[in-house]
Amino acid sequence: MSGTAEPSVKEIFETMEYGPAPESAEVAQAWLQRHDRLFGHFVDGRFVDPVDGERFATVHPGDGAELAQVAQGGEADVDAAVRAAERALPAWQGLTPHQRARHLYALARHVQKHARLLAVLEALDNGKTIRETRDIDVPLVARHFYHHAGWAQLRDSAFAGYEPVGVCGQVIPWNFPLLMLAWKVAPALAAGNTVVLKPAEFTPLTALAFAEIAAEAGLPAGVLNVVTGDGRTGAALVAHEGLAKVAFTGSTEVGRLIRQATAGRGVKLSLELGGKSPFIVFDDADLDSAVEGVVDAIWFNQGEVCCAGSWLLVQESVATRMEEKLRARMETLREGPSLDKAMDIGAIIAPVQLDKITRLVEQCRAEGGRCYQPSWASEAGGVAAGGGLYFPPTLFSDVAPSSTAAQEEIFGPVIVSMTFRTPAEAVELANNTRYGLAASVWTENVNLALDVAPKLEAGVVWVNCTNVLDAASGFGGYRESGFGREGGREGMFEYLKPAWEAGLEPYAAGELWSGPEGAALGEGVPGLDASGADAPGTDAAGTDGAIDRTAKLYVGGKQVRPDGNYSYPVLGADGNHLGEAPLGNRKDVRNAVEAARKGAAWSKATAHNRAQVLYYLAENLDVRAAEFVTRLRAMTGARKADAEREVAASVQRFFLYAAHADKYDGAVHATPLRNVTLAMPEPWGVMAVVAPDEAPLLAFVSLVAPALATGNRVVAVPSARWPLAATDLYQVIDTSDLPAGALNIVTGDREELAGVLARHADVAAMWYVGSADGSASVERESADNLKATWVNSGKRRDWFDPEQGEGAEYLRRATRVKNIWVPYGE
Ligand code: NDP
Repeated sequence: MSGTAEPSVKEIFETMEYGPAPESAEVAQAWLQRHDRLFGHFVDGRFVDPVDGERFATVHPGDGAELAQVAQGGEADVDAAVRAAERALPAWQGLTPHQRARHLYALARHVQKHARLLAVLEALDNGKTIRETRDIDVPLVARHFYHHAGWAQLRDSAFAGYEPVGVCGQVIPWNFPLLMLAWKVAPALAAGNTVVLKPAEFTPLTALAFAEIAAEAGLPAGVLNVVTGDGRTGAALVAHEGLAKVAFTGSTEVGRLIRQATAGRGVKLSLELGGKSPFIVFDDADLDSAVEGVVDAIWFNQGEVCCAGSWLLVQESVATRMEEKLRARMETLREGPSLDKAMDIGAIIAPVQLDKITRLVEQCRAEGGRCYQPSWASEAGGVAAGGGLYFPPTLFSDVAPSSTAAQEEIFGPVIVSMTFRTPAEAVELANNTRYGLAASVWTENVNLALDVAPKLEAGVVWVNCTNVLDAASGFGGYRESGFGREGGREGMFEYLKPAWEAGLEPYAAGELWSGPEGAALGEGVPGLDASGADAPGTDAAGTDGAIDRTAKLYVGGKQVRPDGNYSYPVLGADGNHLGEAPLGNRKDVRNAVEAARKGAAWSKATAHNRAQVLYYLAENLDVRAAEFVTRLRAMTGARKADAEREVAASVQRFFLYAAHADKYDGAVHATPLRNVTLAMPEPWGVMAVVAPDEAPLLAFVSLVAPALATGNRVVAVPSARWPLAATDLYQVIDTSDLPAGALNIVTGDREELAGVLARHADVAAMWYVGSADGSASVERESADNLKATWVNSGKRRDWFDPEQGEGAEYLRRATRVKNIWVPYGE
């Protein structure tokens, strides 16, 4: 809200102040008028009235004026849309990749054709500036459809062995309404899926306009459906049993609800949630560029950006200079009507968001943060004279790392600043957040930038730039910022599934052992006595008559007794008592996770080293093949040839992942800006795997080896019924140079241990192969910590089949892609 009095020419030369430059709203108003400012849902290629007739107003946050009435979707509306998407699926999937590509291409062309309408409508509905909708949102939307027209064309060659998932439910927020639509709809359609999309309550208009434009561009009816409404509509959509995939962008809180709502339904899920993204300025950075970077990081889109650089970390020696420059730049920012082409900052989306920002800023002040706002701020703060919702650009300094300002996502034009001394301290501070969406690093030293970038726990790292986005690059979070990627090759996988999954059958009754329940109670179970001495030797039929010992857990590179000192009997196929397995409990899992956390050396080891260790494991297993054959036969009753086949396949699988260890690498994405975008697959860190009962050696190795090969430290739960093949591996591991903590093995009740692992905040990803109930429980129990899970939904895999038991999907699921943007040129 810059000065309004008419200045003289002389004054203008001094202040360089410029007047309003309004964009006409006519094109958008005419479109609204054509629809009588009254909208239904867009289902099956046309607008339909809401079943129960309920509607609500959508307004322009700049002045509160009502733009239109839109439909409040209920369950019946959602159901109609999902059914339309289901009906459209066969014909859409029946098209050739080229035909689908032509549709996506047409969408891109039509977005460009209607660029002005979309830009103005977006600025009106959201309150963001026309400069941004016109120059950033809409061009990126068109780019997204062009890029994905390419993926549609290439689907069968670039993603051989994968197929579309089916009907996708997509729920998007209000901060980039049309861009988020493009991020979700383009890959879904390119992969051969159909869509039901729910835009945010505050910003439904561009989605409705887009749906209409898509129909005009010839997209078949039912391929894209839009149901408007508030959070209740979103909840009804994600609960619909017709969905095969849910994609969500929004708050972490709602992300958790959606994780719970989709648990156990075999629904593929991607969550792009909030962030508190660090903006790190080293002392050799070009400070003027860094200041412009801050403008783009936090005052772009009013700071209502999930990846906003809202947390400024400045090296101490340049902190004062940086702050002075920043304050001076803040004076020149312009905030006001979204259709004024000369505005930097527009209106906040809604009173509820303005209240949230105001409340958090007051809290930051109360916690002792030093607050700076530009001198013109009082004109702008809160609700301005015209009824618009404005909040001035705000800088907090002297903020403690643990304060609200540093930890909470404010989602407004507010940046907090603190200092650091060394690069190591910068990394430590930057990672001291529960989020992990993005980070920005400013230094003229490329060595420093590329040293720091991989250490930052964030899905995107921008070097000397910020908030740059492109369809060719994946985008998505670590930790509470969610999982899954949008954009690029990595984003396409979110809308595809391995073709082999379709043929899997559920486990037969009794095939999965329900677990050593009696042992859990410690009733009459032969095992360890109170002093923890080994159980007496038992008849280990088929083990050369050797005296068998009670196995132990394997934690931190050592064999350890279980915390509860209980063990349970392992019976052979013929009912013979083969030995004892330790009954691990919560504490044992916690110890194993702690050991894995400390085993970071494995993740830092070179890929070559990891390959060597895996080859060594294979070799040492091979040397002892006969022992393992005997053990497998005794446990499962397998014929000799089958047991030999299982051991040989396990040796091969170690070899396979040893081979992959230094070959499963990333890509340099071809983004159109002057930069290299390095897409690096990174290990999750600590991963949990839970193995089924069948093929007790091969299934275990099939799950553990890819996780290890990609650099994860693993906590593994082997077959509950026949754990001895895994416990026999301890000696193989001990002789194979696997560092302590890289692989930890806890035996016991599968479901109980899986539950503890799912709830454990320090386990970043988890694979579970077991019952349908167990799968559901892992998805549900991990909702709080938002770990990435891969479960089998109670379906049995054939571990001997290379398609089902090994390969690309395992490697992909064992990693997450970090995109590092490195610009070049002067
Ligand atoms: P929400 O997470 O509530 O909204 C995102 C989308 O989810 C909207 O379409 C919303 O509908 C819908 N939704 C709400 N509840 C449910 C539910 N139970 N099941 C399914 N869908 C649901 O974010 P808000 O708009 O309420 O914003 C709150 C805070 O979230 C912001 O202050 C900000 O901190 C953060 N946020 C983060 C974003 C990001 O990109 N990471 C984007 C937007 C907000 P409806 O709009 O009708 O409520």
